[in-house]
Amino acid sequence: MTRLVRKAAITGHPVSHSRSPLIHGYWLEKHGLEGEYGRVDVLPENAEHFYGNFADSGLIGANVTVPFKEIAAKSCDWLDDAASAMGAANTLWLDEAGRLCGANTDGLGFLGNLDQLSPDWDETPGTAVVLGAGGAARAIVWALLSRKYTTVHIVNRTREKAEKISNEFGNGTVAHGWENLGTTLAQADVLVNTTSLGMTGKPPLEIDLKNLPATALVNDIVYSPLETDLLKQAAARGNPTVDGIGMLLHQAVPAFERWFGERPVVTDELRTLALKDLGVIT
Ligand code: NAP
Repeated sequence: MTRLVRKAAITGHPVSHSRSPLIHGYWLEKHGLEGEYGRVDVLPENAEHFYGNFADSGLIGANVTVPFKEIAAKSCDWLDDAASAMGAANTLWLDEAGRLCGANTDGLGFLGNLDQLSPDWDETPGTAVVLGAGGAARAIVWALLSRKYTTVHIVNRTREKAEKISNEFGNGTVAHGWENLGTTLAQADVLVNTTSLGMTGKPPLEIDLKNLPATALVNDIVYSPLETDLLKQAAARGNPTVDGIGMLLHQAVPAFERWFGERPVVTDELRTLALKDLGVIT
């Protein structure tokens, strides 16, 4: 009797840069599982058909990259809270009835990273400041609200984009232009950079932390370099800090568990493997 190998893949366009095969491949090997995780390049003109007829793909599930997270969500018969709040799904699976289900695990990745590296960070959830208002910011605002943060300030160069997110999430979120950064920092229990500033090849993140309480946790989701200038500056004045690579790894945990039935662990070995593969460390 032939055994069916459970196959999942990263889907999108392009997919060649994705580290998901490395992450899931590592866990498949660690758990001694027979599954496979590959790459499926979906051309933009085929995306609606591909996600709309996902059961024909031969996959039991998939990750979805930009720019198809919204199309994927629209193709689903069921969405989890995060995907439905964001209108975007990064994780898909077929349930027993063959219905396409979607989740958005970016926010869970953010939470998993902080839970692992700064346990108790959300013991008394208060005020968070999120820099940026792109796709990652939306997931992180959802995540912070899910942990009962009472106020989430969204500070962005383009204020209208911060307003859009704030209007979507409503109570507890406040949109600001960059000029309000100093005053919002004074209230922060958590500060998260979700802009691409400070990333290798991008302009620096110019920020004065003098108003930030010394106890505030600082997280940068940029992971190249791993220790960004923001993290260096925060650590130098005594703030606790968490880097961003763990978010990338932790967003894969719920997906792997869903497809392959075992909950994997984000180990130091996996962090090192991913950072080497990304060229962040040698
Ligand atoms: P995005 O949707 O393109 O948003 C980019 C954000 O950066 C926007 O808020 C944008 O502001 C801001 N920005 C870009 N250039 C700027 C500049 N010169 N001055 C001021 N603000 C600027 O990107 P994203 O998907 O949210 O990703 C953002 C960053 O997070 C990227 O570096 C990405 O690699 C990283 N990321 C990491 C993880 C992880 O797992 N660690 C996951 C997702 C993303 P405007 O709105 O004003 O343009």
